[in-house]
Amino acid sequence: GDVNANIVLEKKENGGRTKDGDSVDPAEQSLLYKLIRRSLVRNRNQVEVLQRDPTSPLYSVKTFEELRLKPELLKGVYNMGFNRPSRIQENALPMMLAQPPQNLIAQAQSGTGKTAAFSLAMLSHVDPANKWTQCLCIAPTYELALQIGHVIEQMGTFYPDVQLAYAIRGNRMERGIKLQQQIVIGTPGTVLDWCTKFKHIDPKKITMFVLDEADVMIATQGHRDQSFRIHRQLPKDCQMLLFSATFEDSVWKFAEKVVPDPNIIKLNREEETLDTIKQFYVVCKQEEDKFIALCNLYGCLTIAQAMIFCHTRRMAAWLAANLTQEGHQVALLSGEMTVEQRAAVIERFRDGKEKVLVTTNVCSRGIDVEQVSLVVNFDLPVDINGNAHNETYLHRIGRTGRFGRKGFAVNMVDSEHSMDIIHQIEMHFNRKIIEIDTSNLEEME
Ligand code: ADP
Repeated sequence: GDVNANIVLEKKENGGRTKDGDSVDPAEQSLLYKLIRRSLVRNRNQVEVLQRDPTSPLYSVKTFEELRLKPELLKGVYNMGFNRPSRIQENALPMMLAQPPQNLIAQAQSGTGKTAAFSLAMLSHVDPANKWTQCLCIAPTYELALQIGHVIEQMGTFYPDVQLAYAIRGNRMERGIKLQQQIVIGTPGTVLDWCTKFKHIDPKKITMFVLDEADVMIATQGHRDQSFRIHRQLPKDCQMLLFSATFEDSVWKFAEKVVPDPNIIKLNREEETLDTIKQFYVVCKQEEDKFIALCNLYGCLTIAQAMIFCHTRRMAAWLAANLTQEGHQVALLSGEMTVEQRAAVIERFRDGKEKVLVTTNVCSRGIDVEQVSLVVNFDLPVDINGNAHNETYLHRIGRTGRFGRKGFAVNMVDSEHSMDIIHQIEMHFNRKIIEIDTSNLEEME
């Protein structure tokens, strides 16, 4: 009953389709980030730290040595290519490793080193001599749980005494068999079953509980309830750690229930800006002329990497096919692709194997636009009512940091309505968007 109910709810939650037919699934988005992320994101904002006890000294570390890790773990960290703690790790690691244990709520965008931080904390926390589960970590999906597990396995390469088990669908054991692995990572439903129904884990012996991707977790009602039900069985003095990429009110309310007396670490994402972008528009008499205008941009497409946004999957596919026919090396990102396929396309594009990426809106997140010097809005970003979608516009072409590389944005205008959208965008951002003639591209120099 429980499991089925959860599947139904999940379907409902993820059914929110956008106008272009691609559903935005936060768990998939998060997985995509993980699959394509190779290094820490750049974020020059100040880390905010709110201590549970503001009078106690604030510990932060600049090196991994200062953490006095077991040599096996320090070796594992360096073996992953980490030289020094990331910005949030500087504060989060000493808090998570402190004695007596302290609770933590940490919020920072994807790619800031949260997973690496709590993986290290878990490995450091457990006693390898004790052959029972001491650390429990839950993540919203099967794939996300696997990703975290891989980090733990990698980091623990030289610490074979500590073992890891996955509480995910498909992993089955006989009822009553107790796990010997010190760390268990899984999804809420299976973890709950393993604690209650199958008794593979004694929740009373858990001394560290990690809840990752809290924002994605609570997007599914079933997961929220299961998280509470797991949480309720843990000892009162169990160390609670909660991580989230975003922090709306709903995440806060959830976090406060799961993590009593928390220390809080926050790193706001860097604002995107249009300051380093030159914005243009091209007037086309009708939709068909947009393709001709795009081809006239050919000169630009060959020197730079370009991203082209379309409104629908069909339009994106059509455009990619036609550009290919014109001799361009084109990659296509489309909503029907699996996350793994999307990650592979993004990776090839990032490696420069293709110069042009054609995509619909929701597929494009996670691509670092800093490397893309030309963004073409083949279709302008609009909301359901056909008004300018400023946030999406900023997201497509905006860059972080005032000294980011220069870029160009070209908007295709094919009707009075789309001209109106351009004006709305100009007004909203208070930045001029200049008309160009694609048969005379001198203005873009
Ligand atoms: P998050 O969980 O916040 O998304 P991750 O822990 O997955 O972030 O880290 C993002 C990327 O940065 C990963 O590729 C990870 O291997 C790498 N990374 C994490 N911590 C460090 C560090 N201290 N030094 C260098 N790279 C790191």
